[in-house]
Amino acid sequence: MPIDAKLKQAIRERANYYCEYCHSPERLSASRFTIDHILPRSLGGFDDPDNLALACRRCNERRYDFVAGVDPSTQAIIPLFNPRQFQWQDHFIWAEGGIIILGQTPMGRASCLRLDLNDERYPEADSIRATRKLWMQIGYHPPVNDPCQA
Ligand SMILES: [Zn+2]
Repeated sequence: MPIDAKLKQAIRERANYYCEYCHSPERLSASRFTIDHILPRSLGGFDDPDNLALACRRCNERRYDFVAGVDPSTQAIIPLFNPRQFQWQDHFIWAEGGIIILGQTPMGRASCLRLDLNDERYPEADSIRATRKLWMQIGYHPPVNDPCQA
């Protein structure tokens, strides 16, 4: 059953119209972001606000129904970042002024890799990295409350 429009709007407002994984702004996207089930429906997740997050299409597609990923530093299997339980700022920082997201914890690193938050499989010109550079040029990125690497 689809999520009703009122609940969708509440999820978008709660997220301040940013993807809760990569912090892309919905307002600069050609399409509305998706409502992600943190525990996927296929694994028994419900349409409860505590199980829902605003996600851009990139992040939503790459998360698919994964709930864990590999920390590339230790090869350990780690739960993916859950925006209802954790603060983004405790697990990620921006590097290169806002072009690259760096995971700062096992959860941050595993989520960066699983969600490919920097589009590392693509050449820069075809990636979110090039898009973030454009957003930076117009002063829309990185989000004001997000930490940057010193
Ligand atoms: Zn995203």
